[in-house]
Amino acid sequence: MNLQNLPSSLLQELFEFLRFPSVSANPSYAEQTRACARWLCNKFKSLGLESNLWETTGYPVVVARNSPDPSKPTVLIYGHYDVQPPEPLDAWHNPPFEPVLRDDRVYARGASDNKGQLFAHIAGLELLLRNSNALPTNILFLIEGEEEIGSCSLPAFLNQHQRQLACDVVIVSDSGMVAHGFPTLAYSLRGITALECFVKGPSHDLHSGVYGGAVHNPIAAAARLIASLHHPDGRVAIQGFYDRVRPLEAWERGAVKNLPIVEDDIRIQTGAPSLFGEPGFNAIERIGSRPTAEVNGIGGGYQGPGTKTVIPSEAFFKLTFRLVPDQDADEILTLAEEHLRAHCPPGVVLTIQRGHSGNWFFSNPNAPYATAAREALREVFGQEVALLREGGSIPILSEIQKIFGVECLLLALASPDCNAHAPNENFPLENLQRGITLHQTLLRRIASVFPTLRGSQPSPSAEQRARSTC
Ligand SMILES: [Zn+2]
Repeated sequence: MNLQNLPSSLLQELFEFLRFPSVSANPSYAEQTRACARWLCNKFKSLGLESNLWETTGYPVVVARNSPDPSKPTVLIYGHYDVQPPEPLDAWHNPPFEPVLRDDRVYARGASDNKGQLFAHIAGLELLLRNSNALPTNILFLIEGEEEIGSCSLPAFLNQHQRQLACDVVIVSDSGMVAHGFPTLAYSLRGITALECFVKGPSHDLHSGVYGGAVHNPIAAAARLIASLHHPDGRVAIQGFYDRVRPLEAWERGAVKNLPIVEDDIRIQTGAPSLFGEPGFNAIERIGSRPTAEVNGIGGGYQGPGTKTVIPSEAFFKLTFRLVPDQDADEILTLAEEHLRAHCPPGVVLTIQRGHSGNWFFSNPNAPYATAAREALREVFGQEVALLREGGSIPILSEIQKIFGVECLLLALASPDCNAHAPNENFPLENLQRGITLHQTLLRRIASVFPTLRGSQPSPSAEQRARSTC
């Protein structure tokens, strides 16, 4: 790849974007987060797009679009301008909001998640506009500032502005490629739901000599409850947990076999002595397509050095469940609560608090626009496209899919070693350049599919729908 093709002004602009500490989780960065949204809005204006900051109950959403042509499909590109907190600061080789170019990678917080990946689309559009009079499709950017804190304001915003945001297909580049240089279409993501459990025993901490043997130890009770969640072979033991799980189809198992990674790569990445999990599936299948019950934290009793002979009065543990199609988060929480209450040993009181939930996402990788996107990826990367079910969650995607009722395509531009959410986050220039080319190829491919689709369906384009309903 010839990196000389990348205009230096583009890189300088990416650096400007990365210099905003747009950390949505930390209110002390609120002003800089809003300044980042204004910068982005102005960037779109400089490209000749109609660009606005739309206020929400939280951080504003940037919406930018070209002057739409009703005969063309509308491509909505979703992304986010907020970033994860940069801590721990001393683990960074450069200050996280002072981007540097090192070994053909840009290092900064947000370099890959999501500013770099998003910027590839913006730069792709800029070059397309510079070199041609008309875009192959209509383009609509929807960039939020709360993705890293759960996209709290976005569902209401999307419902409220559904007509103005009507589109034919949604593109998201906010995920990781399966291996460096391997184009990846993630067609499924897991959902998530959470529980916090409190186990209360005696009214106060007790001397284990004076009272030991007379009361139930809350930590032992909590351990018993946690252990009850799984069979020894790794299967989740909650009754009904797997009832709605959509089985893997033969082509999906074939796609896993064709991935440029094997089970042992997972073992090496994790550093675990050996892999472990539900029998009947390999580790890659378990990560993408099987649900889990995880203990994320446990506490209670004495944590200091040496011995303290105490029976603690209480213990707690935190659980999350990764969910897959067609599980329902509320139903899983109910089943888990029933299981825990049924297994709670005597002598303690169990209190359960429900946490946040986010839906799983699934899209057909053989649907028309997904097929066009796979062809675009293959053309740009010169490699067969990896079809991946990802283990992580982007709950807003299923919301977007539900609200707009169109194909949502997750086209990853980050490599596994981009350190998203971690110190020394980075984005290879090669990925930036490929992303720029992909944007242009993608719009052309989508435009070429659209007439066929419109011919087969009597429905008008999103643009015509928007006009007739506004
Ligand atoms: Zn992201």
